[in-house]
Amino acid sequence: MAMDRIYLDHNATTPLDPRVLEAMRPWLEGAFGNPSSLHWYGQRARAAVEQARGQVASLIGAAAPEVVFTGSGTEADNLALRGAVAAAPLSRRTVLVSAVEHHAVLNTAKALSREGVPVAVVPVDADGRIDLDHLRARLDETTALLSLMRANNETGVLLPVAEAAALARAAGALVHCDAVQAAGKVDLDVNELGCHLLSLSAHKIYGPQGMGALYVRRDTPMQSLVRGGAQERNRRAGTENVAGIVGFGRAAEIARAELARERVLFASLRERLQGLLLAIPGARVNGAEPRVPNTTNVSFEGADAEGVLMALDLAGIAVSTGAACAAGAPEPSHVLVAMGLPEARVQTSLRFSLGRSTTEGAVDRAAAAVREAVARQRAHAPTP
Ligand code: PLP
Repeated sequence: MAMDRIYLDHNATTPLDPRVLEAMRPWLEGAFGNPSSLHWYGQRARAAVEQARGQVASLIGAAAPEVVFTGSGTEADNLALRGAVAAAPLSRRTVLVSAVEHHAVLNTAKALSREGVPVAVVPVDADGRIDLDHLRARLDETTALLSLMRANNETGVLLPVAEAAALARAAGALVHCDAVQAAGKVDLDVNELGCHLLSLSAHKIYGPQGMGALYVRRDTPMQSLVRGGAQERNRRAGTENVAGIVGFGRAAEIARAELARERVLFASLRERLQGLLLAIPGARVNGAEPRVPNTTNVSFEGADAEGVLMALDLAGIAVSTGAACAAGAPEPSHVLVAMGLPEARVQTSLRFSLGRSTTEGAVDRAAAAVREAVARQRAHAPTP
């Protein structure tokens, strides 16, 4: 008999929503056209792309022409950092990033640093919060860009982008916000956040993988990374992924329509799960409120997280030890390390991220399986 699986790793990726597939289907089956072509086929594809651009823009309170479609959230982050630095005056080249950014931002900053761009890292406290005083002290007339995520992918902690952006703007710097994990989970408005650039990814909101977007506020100086044709108003060359863009647009529309209902639902399911997990002796939550409603990161003292993850997988329950790209890699989570958590706690931490398929029954079954897996892990392979 097929195993009844429970997926609690929605921060890694989400399944394609059937409504999104329906919207994409014509563009996968028969409809086609290059949006740059002048004839009927081209104009039909152009109209589909522009409708989706409007849908994505609506999710974040932007104007449609400010949305640039990219091949992933990672590409959007790369374009934001590299594009802004390349367009900045030579006297203003420093990039500031928080210590808990996704690798898409951190490794881009690292590469820029190797290329001679000054980069500074803003620390976080033990709760995963950014230190605004430290940020204020780092900002000056040489700062080109501050890159700060809205929601952390590993802990779910919400970072104070609006407050940080006000400080950065006062210093004359541009602000980039990686909102990949915030979209569909909390309200997002580029004007309230005060950012110039904002990254999104379709596959975190039940859209297709390999689709991202970068919001670029009107009149923001930015150079393109991919050179070629004039697509995306000269900001990202290459013939558009029409099916992917259409799917992203529909996913954004659904996320916007369901946000108010889902955030309440996810919060109550997450509290239920977290309560059950915290009833396990030696369990502690990593990261403090405010957090996105679907995520909790919990450490189980003395129980190696990889061992627990594998045992849960055998029981049909999918969770994560942190960022998907870091899973399997020997390095501990840079996010939990940046929060100053001791190694023993980092190594025993698991991320649970809920989504549209999550039910109370699934939460209860998962929590019981975690309790058992943790007890077994402690008995058989205690971490020192
Ligand atoms: N930024 C954050 C915060 C993420 O969680 C992710 C994906 O895990 C990305 C960026 C990268 O997005 P993509 O998977 O579309 O490249």
